[in-house]
Amino acid sequence: MNLRIQELTKLLNQYNHEYYTLDQPSVTDREYDRLMQELLELEAAYPGEVHPNSPSQRVGGAISPGFEKVVHTFPMLSLENAFNEGDFRDFDNRVKKTAPDATYACELKIDGLAVTLHYENGNFLRGATRGDGDIGEDITQNLKTVSAVPLQIEDKRALEVRGEVYMPKKSFDRLNGARAEKGEGLFANPRNAAAGSLRQLDSKVVAKRGLSMFSYNVANAQSLGLLSHSESLDFIEGLGFSVNPERKLCQDIDKVLEYIEKWTSLRFGLPYEIDGIVIKVDGLELQEKLGFTVKSPRWAIAYKFPAEEVQTILKDIIFTVGRTGNITPNAVLEPVRVAGTKVSRATLHNEDYIRERDIRIGDRVVIRKAGEIIPEVVGPDLESRIEGLAPFEMIHDCPRCGSEIVREPGEADYFCLNTDCPARITESLIHFVSRNAMNINGLGIKVIQQLFQEKLIANVADIYQLQKEQLLPLERMGEKKASKLLDAIENSKQNNLDRLLFGLGIRHVGSKTAKVLANTFPTIDCLMAAAVDDIIKVDEIGEAVARSVVHYFSQDANRALIAQLEGIGLNMTQGTGAPREAKAPVADSVLSGKTVVLTGTLHQLTRAEAQSLLEQLGAKVTGSVSKNTDFLIAGEKAGSKLAKAESLGVAIMTEADLLAMKEGV
Ligand code: NAD
Repeated sequence: MNLRIQELTKLLNQYNHEYYTLDQPSVTDREYDRLMQELLELEAAYPGEVHPNSPSQRVGGAISPGFEKVVHTFPMLSLENAFNEGDFRDFDNRVKKTAPDATYACELKIDGLAVTLHYENGNFLRGATRGDGDIGEDITQNLKTVSAVPLQIEDKRALEVRGEVYMPKKSFDRLNGARAEKGEGLFANPRNAAAGSLRQLDSKVVAKRGLSMFSYNVANAQSLGLLSHSESLDFIEGLGFSVNPERKLCQDIDKVLEYIEKWTSLRFGLPYEIDGIVIKVDGLELQEKLGFTVKSPRWAIAYKFPAEEVQTILKDIIFTVGRTGNITPNAVLEPVRVAGTKVSRATLHNEDYIRERDIRIGDRVVIRKAGEIIPEVVGPDLESRIEGLAPFEMIHDCPRCGSEIVREPGEADYFCLNTDCPARITESLIHFVSRNAMNINGLGIKVIQQLFQEKLIANVADIYQLQKEQLLPLERMGEKKASKLLDAIENSKQNNLDRLLFGLGIRHVGSKTAKVLANTFPTIDCLMAAAVDDIIKVDEIGEAVARSVVHYFSQDANRALIAQLEGIGLNMTQGTGAPREAKAPVADSVLSGKTVVLTGTLHQLTRAEAQSLLEQLGAKVTGSVSKNTDFLIAGEKAGSKLAKAESLGVAIMTEADLLAMKEGV
């Protein structure tokens, strides 16, 4: 068996899971497409080694158990990809062999989520996601909240219309802006935001997300007497469906290439994201003649735009101070849109990075997104450099407190060593309340900054002493919001030890390490008493972590802080926080009486919280996947249990699905 085929199959299946089930891709689409291309080439060279589970043989997608299943009347397929002119010419030659007179319908490839809509007697009856291509999820209620989905149409015949639900750039910026303010995780791009929104179990939430839809296909067009794809689109447009106005009929492949060239540069000005161009043979009879592969129609192809790099002006370089005192240079940019978001800041990493590339203020610079999330400056466009720009100068003092900054040998970063530096303190406070740490809802960056400025909080213990009258004068803080915030602060006292450990910001202790530590040393006293050697013995913990933990607890100020937090009533144990009110199991939960396994890293719930929620939902939680398992809750980086569950056909749920069910508890 070809090892690379095996490796790629496994990797791409994992990426599919992250993309389609979790709506949280960990690699760029470009990287995914590159690996898929490699797999396709290897599979072509070794046809006997194509695994039935290969991502090349299936339409990627997931079915959440929170929704009813819908069996598609016509399969909902993927599209073959083209990356360059050669790929198009090959496609054209293949088509022309069967259909020499073919004309091509060119359309923008909207970056969203495919859905299908069923109409009967003029009424919108049912709508579904693509799912695995054969079976999708019934999202009728959610689709009813999208105003571009007509609820009634004049034609009374049965009609099935397909299209893409998407999130316009404006709605996306608004949604991510609001999430940032609340300290919630951001969506990587409008596609993930659209998919994450449409697959919400609560349609009231969907209604607020500003989704829209472009319809691009009539699945039963021939039964309605329609002769071409373009005629079908005109027909549904006449019925009130929203059809993209930029579509164009092209007589030959050269005209298609012109269309592609035009939209490759014009796409940034559109109010929605597109990730390519779709070319379809226009005649429906010709389409029928050309047929399908297992995964895609032979009469269509999708051109994917190359990874997006854009240019803009570097207006300034400013320095931010992290909670450990690390100083990071950041680019202040003329705002520009890149891979889905408007960017006016980007990281410049560190002094050496800027010097090696000779990046100067005033330069035209190239920007891209690393891992699709964090924008970075790739380098300057030296050809367009104007004369007289000064080379970069590193600062010598902390931009916030003025202390001298230090770069130790072997370190890439400069550090502000002043533990009283206001920037370090506010960053530590922001980290302490963040989602993976103490998860105090309502205590976003702006509130923390105000509280610090007003001298109401100077360390994390002060958060627990806040009074309502101190909160009320803050900007945009009403009576109700203040009460909610105080409740959230109070509830956070019950968090498990791992959240507290992560929140304290001990160097090298990320949220995963904090969980490993707290699971091994289940009380803070055990951990504080542990020596470097005791900690190193723990699986997955290295020497740097062990030394850092021991050093942290050897400092008097840190020990005093722990004592203070304990005195305030914070839980200092793992999994044995003060008992929460026991709740009776919910009778009608999808999980009632089902056997469920939890695996992978969860972000919003601790393991103990997830287990307790599952029990409230009536589920029986077990440790290993077998044929008796009904559901697997797969967190991030779910490994062998996920693979086993998939091979046994066990239904897979995400943390988001589980959280959605929490509403009913
Ligand atoms: P696709 O996105 O390449 O093409 C098919 C889809 O295009 C259709 O299902 C439909 O939703 C959409 N579409 C938009 N406008 C359209 C139009 N006018 N006409 C027809 N269809 C239109 O295929 P796919 O199978 O949905 O997804 C595969 C792609 O998803 C990959 O190529 C990759 O880019 C991305 N992906 C990324 C990751 C990751 O981890 N980053 C993982 C899986 C998939």
